[in-house]
Order: sequence, then C-alpha cells, then structure tokens
Amino acid sequence: NTGYNNLELDLATGKRGGRKGLIAPLLRCLTQAEDSLVVNNNAASLFLLLQEVAKGREVIVSRGEQIQIGGGFRIPDILALSGAKLVEVGTTNITTARDYLDAITDQTALVLMVHRSNFAIRGFTESADIGELARALPEQVVLAVDQGSGLTTEEFAPDETSVRQYIKAGVDLVCYSGDKLLGGPQSGIISGRADLIKRLEKHPMMRTFRSSRIIHSLLERLLIYKLNKSPIGEGIAQQVLSNPAAMQARASQLMAALPGCFVPVPAQLVVGGGTLPDEFYPAPALECTDPRPAQQLLDALRELPVPVIATVRQQKVLLNMATLLQAEMELLIAQLKELLLPAPFNATNATEEP
Ligand SMILES: *Cc1c(COP(=O)(O)O)cnc(C)c1O
Repeated sequence: NTGYNNLELDLATGKRGGRKGLIAPLLRCLTQAEDSLVVNNNAASLFLLLQEVAKGREVIVSRGEQIQIGGGFRIPDILALSGAKLVEVGTTNITTARDYLDAITDQTALVLMVHRSNFAIRGFTESADIGELARALPEQVVLAVDQGSGLTTEEFAPDETSVRQYIKAGVDLVCYSGDKLLGGPQSGIISGRADLIKRLEKHPMMRTFRSSRIIHSLLERLLIYKLNKSPIGEGIAQQVLSNPAAMQARASQLMAALPGCFVPVPAQLVVGGGTLPDEFYPAPALECTDPRPAQQLLDALRELPVPVIATVRQQKVLLNMATLLQAEMELLIAQLKELLLPAPFNATNATEEP
C-alpha cells in the first residue's frame, strides 16, 4: 500500500485525530472489547500495562504462570523492570480463585493471568475460573490476562480461550500478539475497558511502544477480512487444517512427478507460533527413499536455489505436506527432480526442451 493515508488525521473534522483509526471499532466487533490499542509486540503490551496499572504496587500471579517465553522473556523479570511488586500465589499445578482473593491487600493493583504458551501442564491441575474471579475481585483491582495467541474467530483450537471469551467473562484488559494465531504483522494489542485503555495511551513512554502506519494499515485490512469472513483473514493455519484433501493431493502430485522417490507416511502439524504446545494436527508427509545419509540430504535440500526445509525422523528425511503452498508445487517439483532423480532422468528432461 503505497498511497497517502490519514494517520492521525480525522477525516470528519480535518483536525488531528487518533493513530489507531478503525482498529479499535473493528476489534470491538471481533472481541466485544470497549476499546483497544496497538503497540510493537505483546512484550511491550505487557510492560506498558504493568507500568501504568501497577508501578510501585502489587501484582498477583500464579506460581504456575511465571513462565519464560522464547528469547529470554520472563514474566517475573518484566514485572520487576516495570516497577511492580510480584506476589506469588498457588502452586505449579493448582491455583484457585480463593488463592488470588486471599492474597489481596490494600497495595494490590492487578491480578495477572498468563497463558502458558510454550508448554503444557497435564494431570492433577486446576486453574481459577476467570468469571468467578472477575466477579469476586474488589473494584479497584484490575484483572488482566496475557492471552498470547490472539485467538479470535479461528476454529481449530476449541480448547483455547479467545479474546472475546475473556472479555465476556469480565476481564478488564487482555493483551495478545498480532502475529501469532491472529495472523497479522508483528504487533501487540491490548483490548478491554475504555478508561484503562485511555490511561495506557497517555503513558509517557507510549511513543516508544507505538507501531508504524504500515502495521496499522495491515492490521486494519486483516481485521476487515476477518469480520467479512474472507478466507484471506482466516490465516494459513485455518486454511491448511480445514482442507486435508488438498494436503493429500499435494502428496499424490509429488509422488507421480518423482516416481520411486517417496513413501507416504503419517505425520503431524503444529501451529500458532508456540502458543498451542499441546495441539497436534494430523498431516500427511512424504519420506524420501534417497540413499544419502539423512543429514546430508537435509543440507542439500536447504542449499537448493529456493531452500526446502525438511525434518528427520528415524534417520529418514520427511517433507510435510501441510507446509506447502499450491503455488510453490511446480518449482518444488523441478528442484526435487534435479536433486533426487538419477542423472539420465535429468538428461531426458533437458533434451525434451526445444
Ligand atoms: C508470545 C507471547 C508473548 C510475547 O509476545 P510477542 O508479541 O512475541 O512480544 C507474551 N506472552 C505470551 C503468553 C505469549 O504467548
């Protein structure tokens, strides 16, 4: 999008306007949140939220949710940096609504719940019911959830709580990434109570966190696609997972084009940028019959003019059909013919060209 835009210009009045344009009303339709704001990533959302709501005061967090996300981002560290004081409650596997309520003092500013993004706890576990906690918290204590994935309308993770469900349960602020399940550009979004969003927007450091006009226009476009239920807005994970026949068809196409080179095997697909650590979706794969050692073949695939990223399972190289786009098939087949078929095949192909 290379045209002019009306960033911070209110077209109705011609006066200086807000940066976020249509994003807040679009997110209101998608999540029911009164208001929303956009920053550079979800780490920034969380830092901003903690600074504004809880600096110098207490934040209650479950011991089961003091997590480290990739890249050294640790909840207790970011909390300390924000100037808030961490109050731990519960245990690794069990934290109840009562645990939170018993920890409240006149210094409590915030109860923060954090999605366990890159791991799962199974077995004897219990988390507080969010609706129950929201109803029981004193009015001056803010309830915030770091939801992480940005799940809104996507249907492939029925056990995940969407942003809208948290808002409906009475959570005051929900923060999430724009580029995980939501499927947009790198950004962080905070949705929730209008009075709190307004406070966050007035934070003196907001200027260092705010995102650019390009991000805003990409996000705005994505949200419009989502609200119109256009397939582009569904994101690639939904498109792939809702069409297993297309994955099978790609396997057949590759096997027909490169006879003898592959054996079909079942495999799995993981989606969500680490936010769905316990969800494995079936996906067909092709195992290479090439006699080269797996590591050598893996390297050769990566060194192709357009690199092909495969995986190794039990000393065999696997191509996962869920990770291919239809538009790439012709190029992939041409490259794999060069690499996998014995020389005479390549020679015949070459002489066939006029
Ligand atoms: C991914 C994630 C973050 C960090 O978000 P970025 O947008 O990558 O900065 C924070 N919290 C949770 C729960 C996450 O899943």
